[in-house]
Amino acid sequence: MAHSRAPTELRHPGADRDCPRCKGTGTRIARSGEVAIAISCDCLSVCPSCRGTGLVAISNAFRARHRRCVCQVVMARRRAFDAAGIPARHSGSTRASFVPTGRHQTAVVGAVSNYLKEFNPEGDNRGLILYGDVGRGKTHLLVALLRELVFRHGVRARFVEFSHLLADLKSGFDVGRGMAALIDPLVDVEILAIDELGKGRNTEFEGTVLDELVSRRYNAVRPILATTNFSPGGGGAAVSNAAAVQVGTEERPGLATRVGPRVYSRLRETCDFVEVQGDDYREQRGRP
Ligand SMILES: [Zn+2]
Ligand SMILES: [Zn+2]
Repeated sequence: MAHSRAPTELRHPGADRDCPRCKGTGTRIARSGEVAIAISCDCLSVCPSCRGTGLVAISNAFRARHRRCVCQVVMARRRAFDAAGIPARHSGSTRASFVPTGRHQTAVVGAVSNYLKEFNPEGDNRGLILYGDVGRGKTHLLVALLRELVFRHGVRARFVEFSHLLADLKSGFDVGRGMAALIDPLVDVEILAIDELGKGRNTEFEGTVLDELVSRRYNAVRPILATTNFSPGGGGAAVSNAAAVQVGTEERPGLATRVGPRVYSRLRETCDFVEVQGDDYREQRGRP
C-alpha cells in the first residue's frame, strides 16, 4: 500500500504509547445515547508537556511567550468529533475495522485513503460520493473518513442521515423557522456528510431544501461527502414504487432523477463518484 504523508491522529502527550485500547492516542470512541463521542482513555495521565495548564512556554531571550499545548488541540478535536453527530451504531467504524469482501472493496478503501491523503485543510477540496446497493459498507467508510478528517486535520464536520435531516427541517419549518436559519449550520461546517442521499419521498419541500443546501455549499466551495443507493445518471420515475423496485419490475431511478438535474449537476462538478460493490456486507456479518 502506498505510504501516506497525511498527518496521523494527534496523540495526547499524557497517553501511554503502548496502550492497545487507544493505540497510544489517549482518545477512545464511546457511545452516548444515539451518538458516538470521544472520551479519554484510562491510560491518560496529567499532560507532561503543560502539567495540565494547557500552555507551554516558548523560550525566548527577550520575553516569555506561551503557546497552546498539543493536549488542548486534542481536546478541541474531541469536541469537534462529538459535534459531528456520528451515529452510535457506527462508533467502531474505522478504516482498520472495515473488512473488504473482495478486490473491488479493497480498491474502495484505497479511494477513501487517497481522499484523506490529498485533503488540504487550508485549501479547497472536492467532495466524494460512495454509491452502490444497500449493505455494502458505504456508511462505515463514510464515517471512517469523517472520523479521520476530524482527528487528523481538525476539520469541523457534520454527519446527517438524509431522511432524518428532512424530518428535522420539516418540523422546524412547520413551527415557523425560516429555511435559511435551518440550513445555515449545515452550510457553515467545513465538511457535510450526508448518508443515504436521495432517500425520501421526493416532495417539493424536500427538493427545495436540497437545492438550497447544495447550492449554498457549492457557492461557499465547501465539499459534500455522501452515500447513496442510487447510481449516477437519470432514468426511472421521480417518485418510485419501492416494492416494484425491489422485485425489479420497475426501472430503478438514477441519482439525477432523485435529486433533480440542478443539484445533480453541481454534485457531478464538485464530487468524485466511487462505486461500492461486493458481497452483501450485513448478510456476511450476520446482521439483520
Ligand atoms: Zn489508552
Ligand atoms: Zn498539555
